[in-house]
Amino acid sequence: MKIAFVGLGHMGAPMAHNLLKAGHALTVFDVVASQTNALVAAGATAARSAGEAASAAELVITMLPSSPHVRSVYLSADGVLAGVVRGTPLIDSSTIDPHTAREVAAAAATQGNPLADAPVSGGTGGAEAGTLTFMVGAEPALFERVRPILAHMGRNIVHCGGSGTGQVAKICNNLLLGISMIGVAEAMNLGAALGIDPKVLAGIINTSSGRCWSSDSYNPYPGVMDNAPAARGYSGGFGTDLMLKDLGLAADAARQAKQPVLLGAAAQQLYQMWSAAGAGALDFSSIINLVKKPP
Ligand code: NAD
Repeated sequence: MKIAFVGLGHMGAPMAHNLLKAGHALTVFDVVASQTNALVAAGATAARSAGEAASAAELVITMLPSSPHVRSVYLSADGVLAGVVRGTPLIDSSTIDPHTAREVAAAAATQGNPLADAPVSGGTGGAEAGTLTFMVGAEPALFERVRPILAHMGRNIVHCGGSGTGQVAKICNNLLLGISMIGVAEAMNLGAALGIDPKVLAGIINTSSGRCWSSDSYNPYPGVMDNAPAARGYSGGFGTDLMLKDLGLAADAARQAKQPVLLGAAAQQLYQMWSAAGAGALDFSSIINLVKKPP
């Protein structure tokens, strides 16, 4: 299939590589032209705009930082909707607010292009390995149409409901993740301050009722897990600023829904403080150092 792929950053580039490996013909575009180099070397064709990439495609996929980028890539004069052939399906895998996802999908629908929101979890490791989870908001027929393509990039392809519900699932999950990481950080710091070996404490938590992904797969306390960002100075992984962005999306969506998210708001402020202290590029589990008593 001829696929246009727009946005070739940490996630988009490895996802596009997996589509090439599966035998699809790719036309790629990124505002930073050098982002396309490795894909062109692997057989993709570079386009000069998102609209040009979309014009020859049977499917368009976008993987962009946030809502304003998605609006611009779809709605601008040289954007996807200006170039794409009527009827061509579109997939946006960026994490953005559900409101924008629905607005852009409505604009696409008026010109006959169905758009699925399909944000992912699994991080850069999952993008490289092709094991991402896709949370898809789309009409059932569109979901069935795009599922085989998403299966080249992910292992779990979940239909969440109509337009925007993929983004709803994603921001609710990350709201909980942002909060649970701070909870684990507090418990680990308290245990260490009171004199228990952090590895022993983590082992107890992970077989007790406090267990969660932040404690058993991504423990923030250094020395507890060999393969977590805490073992490598919090480099790589999922950045504090990306978590801050997702908590902002959750807060905005909660305001629109008039739904209180008290712990989410507190978590957002803590990641904001941590980012302002210069830790925006560090993995979000480094928040443990913000909630630690001074030495
Ligand atoms: P990134 O910043 O590495 O990549 C985004 C790419 O989009 C960049 O190459 C940028 O140049 C390009 N871009 C920006 N504006 C553009 C435009 N107008 N036209 C074309 N290209 C444009 O970000 P990422 O880490 O790949 O994340 C992408 C999305 O996936 C985000 O919404 C993020 O929240 C989400 N996500 C990231 C992770 C992760 O671990 N990094 C995990 C899950 C979800």
